[in-house]
Amino acid sequence: METTTAVEALTDELRALLGEAGVTTDPRVRERVSVDGATMSPLILELLPLGLADVVAFPTSAEQVAACVAAAVRHRVPVTPRGKGTGNYGQAIPMPGGLVLDLTRARAVVEVGDGWVTAEAGATMVALEAAARETGQELWMYPSTAQSTVGGFLSGGSGGTGTIVHGANHQGFVVALDVVHATGDPVLVHVEGEEAQAYVHNYGTAGILARATVRLDPLRDWRGFYASFAEQHDAFRVLRELGRLDPAPRLVSADHPDVAAALPPDPAIPEGRASLRAILDPAAVDAATALVIAAGGRVEDLRDGPQASLKLSVLSYNHPIEWLQKAEPGTYVHLEVGGDALVDRLDEVQATIPGGLLHLEAGHTVPIGMLAGVYEGPERLDEVILALGRLGVGVHNPHQWNVDFEVERTLALARDTDPHGLLNPGKLNPGYAGPRKGAIR
Ligand code: FAD
Repeated sequence: METTTAVEALTDELRALLGEAGVTTDPRVRERVSVDGATMSPLILELLPLGLADVVAFPTSAEQVAACVAAAVRHRVPVTPRGKGTGNYGQAIPMPGGLVLDLTRARAVVEVGDGWVTAEAGATMVALEAAARETGQELWMYPSTAQSTVGGFLSGGSGGTGTIVHGANHQGFVVALDVVHATGDPVLVHVEGEEAQAYVHNYGTAGILARATVRLDPLRDWRGFYASFAEQHDAFRVLRELGRLDPAPRLVSADHPDVAAALPPDPAIPEGRASLRAILDPAAVDAATALVIAAGGRVEDLRDGPQASLKLSVLSYNHPIEWLQKAEPGTYVHLEVGGDALVDRLDEVQATIPGGLLHLEAGHTVPIGMLAGVYEGPERLDEVILALGRLGVGVHNPHQWNVDFEVERTLALARDTDPHGLLNPGKLNPGYAGPRKGAIR
């Protein structure tokens, strides 16, 4: 809890700035914006609540975002930016209280150009994709949480549909940003190219994104491709081969039969079989069909149109794990995993954790995915991470809220851009391994 006088003075100032409808101290709203998708993590779930906003502001434009941050800095009240709150591990929780800046009303799509789109931070990824489509273009990438905001995806996410070709969202997706520093000046700082990359995937700890320009590709007439296999090994092997097709797919996902069974019912995802789903260029459909059949699988369906693609996107990355957790509440924990060993040593990989089940994506260079298994406490999870390492699997333990990407670069930047340590405090702690000591990578 911040000092009452500072928060009250800030609240008055924000009301003058945004009007009554743009600011609230209603306890229900404060509670709602003080959680994110962290309930997916059994480790973090048992630590909740981790913070409570004192006041919530809803700026409606990039300029208002700058004015709100400047006001908070003048009153020395911490600011936690927030998009749709779909981040999984507490990164959007206002640990010291203070101001939560809900950016979902600052959502204008400003301009679509040849190869780029500019939008305010609260614009959703689906809104950006729709605006791009109107000009015969599409986003380089968007996450499976397609309704999340562009500011949240750039600050908290990493990749998704489109990653096979374009990699992660810090690898050239961002053309330019208008950011707000916590220096007390209500200005938008325009950064481009490499300078802009330094603000990506660090949870707003070096600056709050108010506007972003991201890259577009020419629009393609994608097909939604569904296949199934009696043998999960075949599904994962075919996933890897599909990831190498030319023209490259926009997405390829595959699931262990038990994960597939937890997904929303669909005749193209038959029970008891491993599922493979892909967003394919029409020119790659014949080759994909041949690979599925050669591996003993069955093509279940081929679907047209943007909705067919979106439907596959929202069954990718962390979503199958979320469905699995809904099917058996309180059972599963997951780790982010990557590498060819996931395909080549599948049985050993799944055996590292009780009830081990794999969800896989074709990544930019190697298969990436989520290994889910029965949660038996943090010490046991550390053992799983070590065992996976011995198998040659790359592991990221996501169950913590600290910036763990380009930490030194972020620290150096934040020294200038956030001299009072007011931006999303509690998330930039070098050397701190999260809610408990343990291997992060
Ligand atoms: P929030 O959750 O609100 O915020 C994310 C982080 O960014 C927080 O630290 C927040 O403080 C900060 N932030 C928010 N807005 C700004 C801003 N304007 N400026 C600076 N900092 C800001 N991620 C992927 O990358 N790919 C996936 O495919 C994917 N799938 C997911 C599936 C499920 C089921 C779930 C629960 C999560 C998934 N995620 C995925 C994680 C998350 O949904 C994404 O990163 C998402 O894009 C975050 O957007 P958001 O608007 O919800 O941001």
